[in-house]
Amino acid sequence: MAKLKTWKEIPIGGLTEAGSSARFLTGSWRVERPIFDKEKCINCMLCWVVCPDMSIVVKDGKVTGMDLDYCKGCGACASICPVKAITMEPETKFQK
Ligand code: SF4
Ligand code: SF4
Repeated sequence: MAKLKTWKEIPIGGLTEAGSSARFLTGSWRVERPIFDKEKCINCMLCWVVCPDMSIVVKDGKVTGMDLDYCKGCGACASICPVKAITMEPETKFQK
């Protein structure tokens, strides 16, 4: 049997340069898309707090929508919204 490597001899894995996640478009995983109703929104920012991907776009203290390049479609924003200003729709609805 070949001699096993020590931890010092094993190459470092799983590391890449800082900031590389910006190039990783996690939105491509999405099966459901959040649809935002600006008229219902009271700008409580709960969706911004729970979004695991920082995909809630805020401008001048107001939610303006979702960044679909990174939104994974988890639905956490829709679940927590107290006024149902976000609904989840199947991604297939938007495919041509
Ligand atoms: S949780 Fe709903 S009401 Fe609150 S900011 Fe988000 S979309 Fe607007
Ligand atoms: S569906 Fe999930 S990832 Fe997308 S905006 Fe809502 S909380 Fe963020």
